Amino acid sequence: MNTVSEDLENFIVVKNSTIHGKGLFTTVDIPENTLIMAISGEVISEEECIRREEKDNVYIFWNGENYIDTIDTEKIKYVNHNCNFNCDVVDRDENSLSLIAYRDINAGEELTIDYGYEEIYQLCTCSLCA
Ligand SMILES: [Zn+2]
Repeated sequence: MNTVSEDLENFIVVKNSTIHGKGLFTTVDIPENTLIMAISGEVISEEECIRREEKDNVYIFWNGENYIDTIDTEKIKYVNHNCNFNCDVVDRDENSLSLIAYRDINAGEELTIDYGYEEIYQLCTCSLCA
């Protein structure tokens, strides 16, 4: 089980990222496997997902059951891709996912995940890809 820390999301801030645009940063140390925040948003159909992606909405997650559009969220939509990611996305319930710490993360670090789709690896400029 993940350690549940209700207030941890309050210690996650949005700042300019060296990876892309804005990113999510932690202001506190986060131990491996800690639940950082829920990933929830508007639940949409596959058809609607395709329609929105064609309009460059890149904030849609899929949890195996539903497509979750996070474009209207304050924080989670800013999580950037890094092949050397420090966070993982895991199942939560049918309408959401959880962002957890994949390893110990230090205060000040940017939170990143593996987007896991083919095109991202061609565009990626992380230290592993550069
Ligand atoms: Zn990379």
